[in-house]
Amino acid sequence: MLDSTLQETYDIVLRRNPGEPEFHQALREVFDSLEVLQDRHPEYKDQGIITRLCEPERQIIFRVPWVDDKGTVQVNRGFRVEYNSALGPYKGGLRFHKSVNLGIVKFLGFEQIFKNSLTGLPIGGGKGGSDFDPHGKSDAEVMRFCQSFMTELHRHIGEYTDVPAGDIGVGAREIGYLFGQFKRLTNRYEAGVLTGKGLDWGGSLVRKEATGYGATIFADEMLKARGESFDGKRVAVSGSGNVAIYAIEKVTQLGGLAVTASDSSGYVVDDKGIDLELLQQIKEVERGRISDYADRRDSATFVSGGSVWDVPVAVALPCATQNELDADAAKTLIGNGVLAVSEGANMPCTPDAVSLFREAGVSFGPGKAANAGGVATSALEMQQNASRDAWTFEYTEKRLTDIMVNIHRTCLETAEEYGRPGDYVVGANVAGFRKVADAMIA
Ligand code: GLU
Repeated sequence: MLDSTLQETYDIVLRRNPGEPEFHQALREVFDSLEVLQDRHPEYKDQGIITRLCEPERQIIFRVPWVDDKGTVQVNRGFRVEYNSALGPYKGGLRFHKSVNLGIVKFLGFEQIFKNSLTGLPIGGGKGGSDFDPHGKSDAEVMRFCQSFMTELHRHIGEYTDVPAGDIGVGAREIGYLFGQFKRLTNRYEAGVLTGKGLDWGGSLVRKEATGYGATIFADEMLKARGESFDGKRVAVSGSGNVAIYAIEKVTQLGGLAVTASDSSGYVVDDKGIDLELLQQIKEVERGRISDYADRRDSATFVSGGSVWDVPVAVALPCATQNELDADAAKTLIGNGVLAVSEGANMPCTPDAVSLFREAGVSFGPGKAANAGGVATSALEMQQNASRDAWTFEYTEKRLTDIMVNIHRTCLETAEEYGRPGDYVVGANVAGFRKVADAMIA
């Protein structure tokens, strides 16, 4: 139950945004956390900060026509939600997936505001994408789609305005096509207009690894806070994209054993630990299915039903997509003695799953804190672009690690300050919110 003032605001926001369940879910989680601010910060209420913050500053929806390899014209819908620019230019990824609609982009953009605030770097929040489905498309089709997408998007973005990056379905290849088209249309080598670029043309070392590394470092910090470590622990990772692959790499570096990976066709369990080179070959080079992994590795089994959360582990890193870990999965994980859950994806755990983890005393790192390493390293890429510099891997990774350790500490200290010790959800929401709210008031 929300108190009456928050409930009233929440109802207004819901009425204004009907039929967008993921957005409502993201709003609800933040509203639940903001209860602790009500008495101590009357200025937020007086200035209508919550209502203002829930309404995106600008929402852009556009037609993306492109020609497929057969010569047929296809049409997709493009989105960019420029959510909040109190702390810096809008910053957030582009998602190309058939499930993308305005509500999904708004949920992601809303989360991004607080996530970006938590990094401590000067970036506002935004998100975009399209319902374009990259599966089964040729390189040339993806290129023509990206060029058409940028033909509209370019007029809305800029290194001081709005800086997109990748998300699901948008990696280095797509960023390359998008950047090339931006450069052609504007006749500007404005490197800082997109992040996640290739290393030869303005990209940053560690950006590719950053989200997965960061979510694992966050999990490591949560484990340390309870006197534990990754050493010798079995870890379940879902997904097999950019986030999952580098989460697995960091788990291994920290002494853990990552035993699972998945895609929409099912999952693999490998009791010897996921072979990263093989996984990368299949998913990054061949763009194949996860079942190919089990076909080529004796210690691995492919399971087509169920989920990676059925596998007994001490740490869970959901790195696939929203609402992939539900209450039943949470119960199984808790029954198997899971100690920590760190969200590599955005909102991968359902609200019921999160409640179960919190009640069971499992350390739960919400995505807006745990996966902030990706966007933080994007901001480091922007810094390098602004100074026409390129940092070493070691230096950039050190900056990322410091940022993640700092976010973890901020969450714990804020949770403590507001009477919810150990609650990373309240800590992340309140710390992220306060900075944005104070900047808006200023
Ligand atoms: N899509 C990533 C996220 O959800 C990264 C965004 C960025 O680098 O701008 O945070």
